[in-house]
Amino acid sequence: MSVPAPPAPSDVGQRLLAIRARMDNAARAAGRDPASVALVAVSKFHPAEAVRQAIAAGQHVFGENRVQEAAAKFPALRAATPALRLHLIGGLQTNKAREAVRIADMIESLDRPVLADALDRAAQAEGRLPDLLVEVNTGDEPQKFGVPREQADSFIRTCRQRFGASLRGLMCIPPAGQDPVPHFQLLRAMAHEHSLSVLSMGMSADFEQAIAQGATLVRVGSAIFGPRPATEPPATQPGA
Ligand SMILES: *Cc1c(COP(=O)(O)O)cnc(C)c1O
Repeated sequence: MSVPAPPAPSDVGQRLLAIRARMDNAARAAGRDPASVALVAVSKFHPAEAVRQAIAAGQHVFGENRVQEAAAKFPALRAATPALRLHLIGGLQTNKAREAVRIADMIESLDRPVLADALDRAAQAEGRLPDLLVEVNTGDEPQKFGVPREQADSFIRTCRQRFGASLRGLMCIPPAGQDPVPHFQLLRAMAHEHSLSVLSMGMSADFEQAIAQGATLVRVGSAIFGPRPATEPPATQPGA
């Protein structure tokens, strides 16, 4: 009697295993418990089939940066995998707040008062409030998402008052081409000052450095799913 061979692990599955091993090593090297760092697999621009391969390899937390794409891809995946968690990590327009609140488990890109207003209204209307991270523009780059550094303290405080324990922490995307470490350190110091426990920082190129600086969430896309098509829209600040 022959036993069917188990399915070969997909490329996505193999890359996930490799990333997890590197994360664990980075955590141990920093004297941290590997269980204190979670992986957000960033599946933007990749088809639902790629997400299914990741789920088959045990991955349950995914990041998408556009509400429409996430809304098209994730409800069916979630129906099949109730443990799945969706993080929205891209700049969010206020007119997408309601759908974002409906589909997300965490919104990592809360970065301005009008968006806080819109999310608050959406939460009332939908009867659910996802976990929230304030995105800080640690490089103070013009035309980039994230609250500017000098407004961050007061914005974090007002979000804390408004959203209570649903405000879980901070997120940053360091400027391209710069040493990310000072940005990670700045974010960690801000989170510490506000007693926030979640630090979302580090991507494919620098997640090990981010873990060394205290990241509790790393957002890794291309190192798991491969290169994205070159059509990625520029990250510009929406008007409202
Ligand atoms: C696309 C994206 C990532 C993942 O980037 P990679 O370099 O592919 O790992 C992480 N965070 C945000 C906010 C993104 O938009």
